[in-house]
Amino acid sequence: MKPAPFAYAKAKSVEDAIKLLAEPDARLLAGGQSLMATLNMRMSEPKLLIDINGVSGLSGIALKDGKVEIGALTRHAEAERSSTIAKHAPLIALAMPHIGHPAIRNRGTIGGSIAFADPAAELPACLLALGGEVEIAGAKGKRAVKADEFFKGLFETALGAFDVLTAIRVPAATGDTRAGFAEFARRHGDYAMAGLAATAKANGKGLSDVRLAYFGVGAMPVRAKSAEAALASGDIEAAVKALDGDLDPPDDVQADGATKKYLAGVLLRRVAAQLMEAGR
Ligand code: FAD
Repeated sequence: MKPAPFAYAKAKSVEDAIKLLAEPDARLLAGGQSLMATLNMRMSEPKLLIDINGVSGLSGIALKDGKVEIGALTRHAEAERSSTIAKHAPLIALAMPHIGHPAIRNRGTIGGSIAFADPAAELPACLLALGGEVEIAGAKGKRAVKADEFFKGLFETALGAFDVLTAIRVPAATGDTRAGFAEFARRHGDYAMAGLAATAKANGKGLSDVRLAYFGVGAMPVRAKSAEAALASGDIEAAVKALDGDLDPPDDVQADGATKKYLAGVLLRRVAAQLMEAGR
């Protein structure tokens, strides 16, 4: 199918993009890897596309004040190759190869992935597991929203209609930081049937500050808080059991809810081993 007709504007700056968003039915265009598909299938029919690809200052990866800052327009491929990400945000490095295929990672952007908030996407769950934050520019200036408050529901976030996501920030890893990642997908590069992004601190022979963020098992990335507590107490099987209360995956085209819950337990055992192993 072909998209419905739309007008096109190239934003010169973030302020320009915010102004253009006031037009009726306007939508930002970043890498286009999700938006163009929805347009072509006529799942959305915006009247105006605002291309932010030419806006300077929205791309790049930097270590600042103990945080890794990733500009919204940074392509997945750049993050995948970044030594700063590999060293200071290893969870994101683990997740990157699972996002689609190289052609998609060459165009798709970090900001687009977080803003789109597909419940089966890897990066929203990584942001949540890392306890990161999202920087947003709007008509009233800039604000930062914590990942725990950013994801609101199915494809729904704290972004308002006239907001531009400008960057994400995650705490830089320290010597005791542990990261784990695993997902089940039918084929490598497909969206996950179920996935888990996790961080923890090494604490003697165990773990503390465990954060388990599942994706593909609900309307948005979801933390398994009872399982986090059980894992921090060193009991992996109790953590797997606790998922019963933490997760309530709906059936979807990929699998039924019961299968997804079973997969969540398998993922937890794998990721727990990664978190513990990295500490030895
Ligand atoms: P766009 O498609 O340009 O935009 C997506 C949405 O976000 C639009 O509504 C747009 O208005 C909004 N938006 C974009 N940037 C901003 C911003 N800075 N501020 C506010 N709103 C913004 N993703 C995965 O995570 N895992 C996968 O396994 C995966 N597989 C894929 C397979 C295929 C075949 C394809 C085509 C895509 C796949 N993707 C996957 C999606 C890919 O990661 C996209 O790049 C990403 O979801 C959206 O990023 P984008 O830059 O392309 O955004």
